[in-house]
Amino acid sequence: MANSVDNRTSESVMPPIPDRRYYDSFLVPHLGLFLASGANLIVGWVCALFGNSQWLVASAIVMSLAIFVRLGMSLFHARLIEKMPHKRLNAYVQAIEIAISANLGLFGALALVLQLSHNLETLALGYALTYATAMTVRCADRPGWARAHMGLIAAPIVLAGLYVATPGSTVLALIVPGLALSMDKLTQAVHYNLCNIVRISQERKAVSEQYHFLAMHDGLTNLLNRDGFHYALDDLLAQHGPHQRVALLWLDLHRLRDVNESQGYATGDKLLCEMTRRMRACTPDDAVLARFGSDEFLLALPVASRAHAEQLVSKISEHLNRPLRLDLALVEAGTSIGVAILGEDSATVSHLMQSANVALMQAKEQGLETCFYVPEMGSKRAERKELERDLRSAISRGELAVHFQPLIDLDSGRICSFEALVRWTHPEKGEISPEVFIPVAEETGQIITLGNWVTAQAARAAATWPDHILLAVNLSPTQMRAPGAALGILHALRQAGLAPHRLVIEVTESVFLEDSVHARHFMDDLTRAQVHFALDDFGTGYSSLSYLHRYHFDKIKIDRSFVCGPEVGPHSDAIVRAVAGMGRKLGMEIVAEGIETAEQANSLRRAGCTLGQGFYFSRAVTAEMAQQLLERDMNHQTRFDVAL
Ligand code: C2E
Ligand code: MG
Ligand code: MG
Repeated sequence: MANSVDNRTSESVMPPIPDRRYYDSFLVPHLGLFLASGANLIVGWVCALFGNSQWLVASAIVMSLAIFVRLGMSLFHARLIEKMPHKRLNAYVQAIEIAISANLGLFGALALVLQLSHNLETLALGYALTYATAMTVRCADRPGWARAHMGLIAAPIVLAGLYVATPGSTVLALIVPGLALSMDKLTQAVHYNLCNIVRISQERKAVSEQYHFLAMHDGLTNLLNRDGFHYALDDLLAQHGPHQRVALLWLDLHRLRDVNESQGYATGDKLLCEMTRRMRACTPDDAVLARFGSDEFLLALPVASRAHAEQLVSKISEHLNRPLRLDLALVEAGTSIGVAILGEDSATVSHLMQSANVALMQAKEQGLETCFYVPEMGSKRAERKELERDLRSAISRGELAVHFQPLIDLDSGRICSFEALVRWTHPEKGEISPEVFIPVAEETGQIITLGNWVTAQAARAAATWPDHILLAVNLSPTQMRAPGAALGILHALRQAGLAPHRLVIEVTESVFLEDSVHARHFMDDLTRAQVHFALDDFGTGYSSLSYLHRYHFDKIKIDRSFVCGPEVGPHSDAIVRAVAGMGRKLGMEIVAEGIETAEQANSLRRAGCTLGQGFYFSRAVTAEMAQQLLERDMNHQTRFDVAL
């Protein structure tokens, strides 16, 4: 039965009642305590004064002392709790209460033994037994103490009843043990229920703590998540006071996506866990560390000064940027860290986070491992945000246009293709260079819509050109990674009626650095469909020859910094010659970008470049003007007479 009670269940299996509140409730002065104390004193002294016995007076004195000590402890409980361990204090309280109960038991027994008047006897016995009953209920959370109160009151009364041996006292001596036993059962039942309530509330607390933990932490790394970070940062600031400088580090892991895609998500998880372990190992104990996104982490560190922050950040960066071994492969995970300091760069937490994020963007843009926030970054960021917003509506407002710049065969001087270059005329800011807005479009993902639009427009224009004229479009890494990117391009060509073999896609090395898996699939799919590829801006990045070996390129476009500009000289000439020689052997066309003069065109042709592009031949022009250039080219009216 649910309410059947046995001692083993109620006392040994049940958890103890949580102490603090228990002790406090005993000590805190309350009306019941004063009423009971007053009643005890009245009963004690009435019996003592009208009972004509020194024993009763002595007992009343002892009990009064105990009552006053008990009341004193209650009134000064706050100070006592501060000074004395709870357990000891509780023991004292209980001992005093036991002394009071013992005295009340003694009054009952003496009332019988001394044959007091009926009124006094009834008062002493009735009060003592009522008090015993009340105490067993009050001590239901400690059945042992309840038994002690009942025992100390009931036992002397029973013994005295048997000793006096009148019919009434004998009946009383027989009834009181029954009363004690039933009260004990009642105490146990209440205790059992109390324990159940405590257990359930503890279980609920544990579950809610677990939910709270899950809500505040990242499941994989066990680090705080976004919400957890905000709470922990508030705690940190509250602990250290408003004048504490706190450095906020916003960390970004470079290679997670690459590892996920090339080695699988399990290995990506290992990378995250290992980086978490490193971060924990190199940060002080009072730092707050959180995972803020798939590959972003936040770290808040109390610091003494900017110099101290710089020292810590450089140590952390060095530790995190060491290569690590993942499933036997050596990985350079690489991190960029943006840093802002509360109290110096920002006054509020939300501004601090913005500043650290801006510093991180700057670090990533400039390929730095660490970057500290400076106020100018904020205004640049704001400009960039504005650009981002304007770019979003630029296509729909008709502010974008596709222009075409011809590529000239350096031997024949004739146009062989056009490169599509997007142009943006902002209603207020005028012409904005693609070198400014393309990176913004890339970062925000708008490049996918923009790139699709450029490809569609360019293909439509190119479909009107003679069959031997090719169209080149620039494709950025994000476009290549987009799901169905290759199919999208083929669809655009079909829609425009342009044969795939007339399209050249220009990509830069960054495509392979960021994501070789998608790049491979994308290029394989389109190469099978006869689309051509050109490696753009060759010479500006790593210029790794392994890409030329691994992927099929028809053209290499030597960056314009080797052709025009201040760094051009014997060195760049030697490099151009070497690249051109290699291209010839590999059967590739070598395009020289940025040809601005006839001399440059001649010397590049002599150096082995097969195609040329640049202002000398033509700037990027509208589709209509490109048509006119083609017509002039067909009629041999071209001025592109480099070789002639
Ligand atoms: P890119 O693909 O290397 O394009 C060649 C850039 O060199 C063009 O700059 C072109 O105007 C410039 N140029 C051509 N001849 C000369 C010359 O004789 N002297 C000098 N100084 N510059 C010359 P533009 O149009 O400003 O484009 C810059 C970059 O923006 C492009 O470099 C390309 O990476 C990107 N871009 C342009 N349009 C698109 C597009 O539709 N999609 C994507 N993804 N990127 C684009
Ligand atoms: Mg290009
Ligand atoms: Mg280029």
